[in-house]
Amino acid sequence: MALVVQKYGGTSVGSLDRMKVVAERALRCQRAGNDVVLIVSAMSGETNRLLGMAHQISATPEMREMDVLAATGEQVSAALVAMTVQALGGKARSLLGHQVNIQTDAAFTKARINTIEGSKVRSTLDRGEIAVVAGFQGVDPDGNITTLGRGGSDTSAVAVAAAIKADVCESVTDVDGVYTTDPNVCPSARKIDRISYEEMLELASLGAKVLQIRSVELAMKYGVPIHVRSSFNDNLGTMVTNEEGLESVVVAGVAYDKGEAKVQLINVPDRPGIVAAIFGSLADRNVSVDMIIQSPSREGGTTTDVTFTVAKTDLTRCKNLIEAEARQLGGAAVEYDPDIVKVSIVGLGMRSHAGIASAMFRLLAAEGINIQAISTSEIKVSCLIHSKYTELAVRALHDGFGLDKGPGTAGQG
Ligand code: ADP
Ligand code: ASP
Ligand code: MG
Repeated sequence: MALVVQKYGGTSVGSLDRMKVVAERALRCQRAGNDVVLIVSAMSGETNRLLGMAHQISATPEMREMDVLAATGEQVSAALVAMTVQALGGKARSLLGHQVNIQTDAAFTKARINTIEGSKVRSTLDRGEIAVVAGFQGVDPDGNITTLGRGGSDTSAVAVAAAIKADVCESVTDVDGVYTTDPNVCPSARKIDRISYEEMLELASLGAKVLQIRSVELAMKYGVPIHVRSSFNDNLGTMVTNEEGLESVVVAGVAYDKGEAKVQLINVPDRPGIVAAIFGSLADRNVSVDMIIQSPSREGGTTTDVTFTVAKTDLTRCKNLIEAEARQLGGAAVEYDPDIVKVSIVGLGMRSHAGIASAMFRLLAAEGINIQAISTSEIKVSCLIHSKYTELAVRALHDGFGLDKGPGTAGQG
C-alpha cells in the first residue's frame, strides 16, 4: 500500500468527460490499496479566460484581486472532480488551499509556499476518502488568497507530497513524459525515461513548462520523486529523481521561452552606479530581470547601451519604471521588443565538454538565424532570437545535437 499524489493539469480536467477519466483512474489506484490525493488545475483555458477579463478592466489590475479571481478556476475543478468520484460510487472530499493551510508569502500572483498542514489531508484519507486538493492556491499570513505563478499546481502537488511524505508524486498531463524538447514543436523529440532534478530544473527554468520550476526545486529539496505521465494512457512516463546516470549526455534537452520581452536603454551615461540604480528600481518593484547585456562604451565615449529581458507579464510595470529612470538619466532612449524567444540547450555533460556553445551558434547560423543576446551557465547555453524562428531553431538544435537519435550520440553538434 502506498501513498500516491496525482496532479492533473488543465487538459486532463478540461471537460466533464475528462474528469470522469481522472475519477476512474483515482478509484482504480485506491481500490488497488493505495491512499490517493488528487491535486487539480483549472479546466484548460480557464485561467487565461479569467486573467483576460481582468485585463479588459485594467492594464495593471490589483494583484490581490487577480489572485482572488484566478484561484476560482481550481475551486471549480476540485468540486467537480470530487462530485465525479462520488457519482462513480467512491468517497471524495474537495479541499481548497486555505483548508489544507497552504501558507505562502504575500507575493500575489507568484507566491512561494512556506508551510503546509499535512494533517488536514491525512484525516481525509483516514476516512477512506480521496482528497481532491485545489492546486495553484494558498493563503498568506493575513488570510489573503494567493496563487503560485503560472503552472503552479505542479508545485502544490510536490509540496503536498512532501508534507504527507507520499511515496510518489505523479504529474499527469497531456504528453507521455518529459521529452528531449517540446514534442508539440519538434516531431523528432524523444521521451526521456529518467532525468535528474538538476537537468529538469534547468529545462523548467528555460521554458519547458511541463513542470513548474518551483515544483522541481521543492522535489529536489525534499527528495520527492516525480513521475510525469499522460492522462490519455497508462504508459510509464519520465521519472525525475536524484539520477546521476546522465552525466555522459552532453546535451540532454532543448527548451524555449516566449514569455520574455527585450528592453533596450540607449545612450545611458557610462559611470559607476547607473546600472545599479536602473536594476535596483526594478527589483524594488518585484520585476525580475533575466538576460542583461551592457555594451562597452567606445574609446573616449561617455554613454553605453544596456539591454535586458523581463517577463512579458511584467512589461507594463517595467515600462513605467524604466521610462522614469530614463528621464532622470538625461533622456536615454528606451526601445521594447516583445517578438523574441530564448532558445536553450541543457546538459550536465557540458561541464566537461568544450565547444558546445560554438556548435550551437553554428547550428543557428546555418539556418540564417541572428543571435541577439547570449547567456551561459555551467550546464546550459541560451540565445535570444526573433520569435518567428522558434520552431526552426528548436528543431535545428534538437537534431543538430543528435537528440533525435537517442542518448549517447548527443553533443556531436
Ligand atoms: P498541464 O496543464 O498538464 O500542467 P502544461 O501545458 O503545463 O500541462 O505542460 C505540458 C506541456 O508542456 C506539453 O503539452 C508540451 O507542449 C510542453 N512542453 C514543453 N517542453 C516540454 C518537454 N521538454 N517535454 C514535454 N513537454 C514539454
Ligand atoms: N491554472 C493555473 C495555470 O493555468 C495553474 C496550473 O495549471 O498549474 O497556470
Ligand atoms: Mg502545467
